[in-house]
Amino acid sequence: MLQQPIIARDPVRFLSGYAGTLPVHFFSPEALDARLAAFMTGFPGLVTYAVKANPADDVISRLYAGGMRGFDVASPDEIDLIRRLCPDAAMHYNNPVRSRSEIVHGIAAGVASWSVDDAGELEKLIAMGATGEIAVRFKLPVAGAAYNFGAKFGAEEAEAARLLARVAEAGFKPAITFHVGTQCADPAAYATYVRAAAGIAKAAGVTIERLNVGGGFPSARDGRAVDLTPYFAAITGALSAFDTAPALVCEPGRGLVADSFAYAVQVKSVRAGRVYLNDGIYGGLSEFPSMVIPRFAVLSQSGRIRGGSSQPRVVFGPTCDSLDTLREPLPLPADMEEGDWVLFGSMGAYLTGVTTRFNGYGEWTTAIVKSVTF
Ligand SMILES: *Cc1c(COP(=O)(O)O)cnc(C)c1O
Repeated sequence: MLQQPIIARDPVRFLSGYAGTLPVHFFSPEALDARLAAFMTGFPGLVTYAVKANPADDVISRLYAGGMRGFDVASPDEIDLIRRLCPDAAMHYNNPVRSRSEIVHGIAAGVASWSVDDAGELEKLIAMGATGEIAVRFKLPVAGAAYNFGAKFGAEEAEAARLLARVAEAGFKPAITFHVGTQCADPAAYATYVRAAAGIAKAAGVTIERLNVGGGFPSARDGRAVDLTPYFAAITGALSAFDTAPALVCEPGRGLVADSFAYAVQVKSVRAGRVYLNDGIYGGLSEFPSMVIPRFAVLSQSGRIRGGSSQPRVVFGPTCDSLDTLREPLPLPADMEEGDWVLFGSMGAYLTGVTTRFNGYGEWTTAIVKSVTF
């Protein structure tokens, strides 16, 4: 089922014998299985996967083999990907803005659930003959996430109630959804949203069948996997705000896949106070300007982790664009050299889908490993 066999025990072992120069994306299927199990056993509802976080065939197939039967898709391409690899899985088309041709594609592929945050988009779905569930997406000004999803999608609460009433009147299965923002550090954010969803359903006079609590679950901080239990408990606890508790759905992306990958980039050049890497913000490090930089280690070419004193250095990517610089200097070993590898943990999300070929960079190789710890 995997396209490649396991080729090393872990990234450090692999790099000590690697003579190539392409960045290496390490994937541990076993680590993905373990995180999937944490969601499947802990979350009191249907676990679906947000495909955009990592659309690699190996990831989708592994999740499917582990029992994943629902996927959050956002485009015709993602729909086709899921139909190809997971023929009987449910698809939730949760990009609330769709062209008419995209709606046609979704209907033909049998999309089971749609999200909306706007009256015009809802009327479009009705007019074009969509069926099944429609989840109204709303937003609140809640802090706690690394990145504000509400800035792009989600209706205000009063508008969400109007949309929900229309969804029910038009004969769809009524549902509500939200996204607290990715890498959410505060379980209470979910509880706040769940209670607000109950208020919206009441205001609309609609009993919703499902509540989709979105993604936002965090990946490891300081190299340690985040316990999901407080998140699930906060969600379950807040359900008491509903007169009739809806069934739950979640759609993790980062919190499910990030920790089963690591990413190694090579040092091209070292200068006083600066290093130049062979990937940067137009490639696998595209999130580094806006997100907390994950745990990392520097390895010599022989595969030894450099543990000596460190000094702050400005980190540049390989392209000739001055934006291709990490926001903050990183504390890097004083004795690091050209040819060393910088190995970043928790790099499974928002890397494969967003890497560009700007300036001829952006190619990497994938290595399947038993474990991604270092
Ligand atoms: C991106 C996205 C997700 C996944 O978000 P993460 O923060 O990676 O968990 C879930 N739902 C929707 C609708 C999304 O757009």
